[in-house]
Amino acid sequence: IMATYRQIINKAKKKANQKDISDQAVKLLMLELCNNNSTDLYLNYENQVDSEIEKKFEEAMERLLNNEPLQYILGYQWFCGYKIFVNKECLIPRYETEELVGNVLADSDYYFKNQDVINIADIGTGSGAIAIALKKEEEKFNMWATDISETAIQLAKQNSQYNNCNITFLIGDMLQPLIDNNIKLDILVSNPPYIPKSQKMEKSVVDYEPHVALFGGDDGLFFYRKIMENAHKVINPHSFLAFEIGYDEKQAICALVEQYFPNDRYEVLKDLNGKDRMLFIYHNL
Ligand code: SAM
Ligand code: GLN
Repeated sequence: IMATYRQIINKAKKKANQKDISDQAVKLLMLELCNNNSTDLYLNYENQVDSEIEKKFEEAMERLLNNEPLQYILGYQWFCGYKIFVNKECLIPRYETEELVGNVLADSDYYFKNQDVINIADIGTGSGAIAIALKKEEEKFNMWATDISETAIQLAKQNSQYNNCNITFLIGDMLQPLIDNNIKLDILVSNPPYIPKSQKMEKSVVDYEPHVALFGGDDGLFFYRKIMENAHKVINPHSFLAFEIGYDEKQAICALVEQYFPNDRYEVLKDLNGKDRMLFIYHNL
């Protein structure tokens, strides 16, 4: 028998709530499949659902009930207002990371106002979200983006093209591709993997997102250490570095900064949830 939108959605919401999955996720799935806006969906609420759509919805619901992140099911995430396609090869861009982008843009404006070209790299670009959002907002950026994952770089290239960006992508281990190409940066940005190896995490994250994008060694700091150790080979005499960090890593990371940038000013910023989330190091600025 045919069912209405109301019936199908209500049934799905009930199942979702038993698994702590939000009504919102259920609604977004249906909206996506109807290729619709929410007003139309509600106008059609008592209408019967096309069997093709119902079948696709049931398949998508099954994935959602298995704790797969909504963004992998939809195939995209919005980041700083840009559509970023995602798949299991990349981390889903997080809202906290939009704040990193905003602060990089503000600092770039402040420190490099008078420069025509600003050389900048996003290390561990994943889906390309950070590099794309930055390049869209600041034409003067000469943007490089690197990742060790070839499949992530493939996706990042597609996202860059979809968003009409001019970004140079390099595959390799952290700063190595920049060192090999003798690239010198005004700004180095990175949201590296920073979860400590043994940290307990939500199933939807640890079962679905690539571990190469999440884990930063025993203490979570492996990649900060690696970047800071080698940063002086790729940064200009007057430059800044911008990192996303784990909410409980401030103290340990500040110790690293004192070690590798003993003469530079630095700052840890909180995200909108009040958690320590960003580190900015100002090298001779
Ligand atoms: N920049 C994206 C974002 O903010 O949404 C992804 C960040 S994700 C936390 C970290 C990224 O670093 C992943 O894409 C992962 O593939 C990459 N990565 C892991 N190890 C790496 C390495 N040794 N060299 C370069 N990139 C690496
Ligand atoms: N923010 C992600 C999480 O908590 C981790 C991202 C990272 O390791 N850089 O799941």
